[in-house]
Amino acid sequence: MIRVYSHPACARHHNPNSGVEAPERLAAALEGARRARSSGLDLDFLSPGPAPREALEAVHDRRYLDDLRALSEGGGGYLDGDTATNSHSWEAAALASGAAASAMEGALEGGTSSFALVRPPGHHAGANYAMGFCLLNHAAVAADHARSLGAGRIAILDWDVHHGNGTQDIFYERGDVLYLSVHRSPFYPGTGRLDEVGHGEGRGLTVNVPLPARSGADRYAAAFAGVLLPVLREFEPEVVIVSAGYDAHRDDPLGGMALDDTFFGEASAAIAALTQEIPGCAPPALVLEGGYDLKALAGCVETTIRGLDGGRTPRWKYRSEQAPAPVREAREVLAPFWESLRR
Ligand SMILES: [Zn+2]
Repeated sequence: MIRVYSHPACARHHNPNSGVEAPERLAAALEGARRARSSGLDLDFLSPGPAPREALEAVHDRRYLDDLRALSEGGGGYLDGDTATNSHSWEAAALASGAAASAMEGALEGGTSSFALVRPPGHHAGANYAMGFCLLNHAAVAADHARSLGAGRIAILDWDVHHGNGTQDIFYERGDVLYLSVHRSPFYPGTGRLDEVGHGEGRGLTVNVPLPARSGADRYAAAFAGVLLPVLREFEPEVVIVSAGYDAHRDDPLGGMALDDTFFGEASAAIAALTQEIPGCAPPALVLEGGYDLKALAGCVETTIRGLDGGRTPRWKYRSEQAPAPVREAREVLAPFWESLRR
């Protein structure tokens, strides 16, 4: 069984600064889930309430939360060049964070793979800033919620085409949260370089694999097999959160990459299989991030869910002599922190 968490009010947020992060994205994502159910998968659809204030305060500054709520509930306003709110944005974002926290409970306590299908997305939002269509950082809220439920080792894997600068910032010095990202670089938001590896207790726990424009399944598979999956296995997390964006799909109007629907089903199957291999690890909890072509979004959500439940694990192998340069370079930079990258 797979649990899908969503709320109709997530469609009421309208960002006048973005034509693509549109309300219709929610229906498209849910359509993908419904198609997965029609194909015979056992899906449970749930509509949890908003994240409680304490869960949001574990990630975001109080002052930022108060200002964001006041701006939205006062009718809306502008936050950055890409990001603005209307009167429903606070409610939508708090429900999205609530769905992510509930997905975490579904994975950690319910023992089932869980997917929060929500908007606006979250991974560019930092402790005290909104950015890049994002208001609250749902993956970060889910990670801190896992900690409040007793998890001591939490991993966030971010496959959105953009680097999740907000998530990286929030956990950059934390020793209990591993953040891994594969993303296009150079590209918005400009962060996610190889040498951003974390600081203090978090040193080595930020893992970035920047890939050039037009990267397709070959380069992505090498990034997974050569860096992301071995590091994840070596970290031995108790839960894996996936920041699941679909803007690296070849039809996406923003991403400029070359993946197709099938790739995301393979990636989710690989992660689900890995969580089963790691002793004491819960099934994955996914949170929707970007993805702006509605047809691709529906198709990718469908393949992702199928991958989570009985999808065939891809036979991705890392071979150094054939590996793309960006993946080889990532292994070199990260090898001092990870034994699995020195083999
Ligand atoms: Zn994105």
